Amino acid sequence: MFCGNCGHVVPSTNNFCSRCGHPMNHDFVTDEREGVFVIEAKTKNIDYTNHGELTSIFTRIKRKRVIIDISKVEFIDSTGIGTLVTMYYKTTRTKQQIIVTGVQNAPLNAMKALGVDNLIVFADTQEKAFAEWGITSV
Ligand SMILES: [Zn+2]
Repeated sequence: MFCGNCGHVVPSTNNFCSRCGHPMNHDFVTDEREGVFVIEAKTKNIDYTNHGELTSIFTRIKRKRVIIDISKVEFIDSTGIGTLVTMYYKTTRTKQQIIVTGVQNAPLNAMKALGVDNLIVFADTQEKAFAEWGITSV
């Protein structure tokens, strides 16, 4: 996993970053399936306390296709939404595709309130996101 502060790669058993000493969040887990990079939020909140972890994961992804599964997330603040929006802006340069899956009503309404829901590509489930890319074997 990645340090949310400095981006250093840290063994997942560590509670602190071995480079900068920052406490490690375990709010996001990553996986790679069928050439798609999957980020899964294990937290109920994406906010100013953990958005840095998400950013440092994303900046290191080389894959063109990325799924961000936020089905467990019940609350996202403007910092968390800003993090997602920044990712989408970056993809216009990197040609990556991001699909956000499993968004609940409260986070969706927060995105609508900020007028950014049209920027974000949603799918109900990871399986549907894979299907969008023509991958049905997962
Ligand atoms: Zn660090």
